[in-house]
Amino acid sequence: MVADRCGGMHSLIAGFLTLVAPSRCASCEEPAEGTAAFCTSCTVLLERVSGPGAVFEYGGPVADAVQRFKYDGRSNLGAALGLLMAADAWNLVGKTDAVVPVPLHWRRRRARGYDQAALLARPLGKSLGVPVLLRGLRRVRNTPSQVDLPHSERQRNIAGAFAPWRLRGVGRVLLVDDVRTTGATLRAASEALKAGGVSEVHTFVLAARVLSEAT
Ligand SMILES: [Zn+2]
Repeated sequence: MVADRCGGMHSLIAGFLTLVAPSRCASCEEPAEGTAAFCTSCTVLLERVSGPGAVFEYGGPVADAVQRFKYDGRSNLGAALGLLMAADAWNLVGKTDAVVPVPLHWRRRRARGYDQAALLARPLGKSLGVPVLLRGLRRVRNTPSQVDLPHSERQRNIAGAFAPWRLRGVGRVLLVDDVRTTGATLRAASEALKAGGVSEVHTFVLAARVLSEAT
């Protein structure tokens, strides 16, 4: 009798936990421990970036997770992936006054229903103890997706795509995006931040594609 009641209570608690914390792997949907973004099998496949500015190399489970997060409507993955970034941002504590996500153009945000960089930025701002300025930058041109362009054309495609907007006079900004490939988007967004009076910009992405010398 007592055992039954305990069992019932445990499943109630387990049910509540699944409601408040996604406990499925962001890549393969297998159960993940606690609030972990990836299951144990996927975690061993993650390739961390050694330098600053990015957490993982783009590929494997990270590429799957980003794909689902951005293109399959899985906005709920943003919190867990953002927490992974936050865990890696300890060296930025005290070095930034605000987090600014790289914004989508409003047409694309409306089509997708959310802005993925903004979802990653929230846990980061919280962990660094600084505000997240969702309207720090504005995307003034709806550029073709960088993914579809050869690397050599990306800088030209994205140049002038951003404008400073409501930066509230912050001096040091952590600029956040999901994936870095050539860095063209981050460069264009950094230039807009500087034009808006920001003195120092650090960039930070969940995953960086490692480019071969030929590209
Ligand atoms: Zn997995």
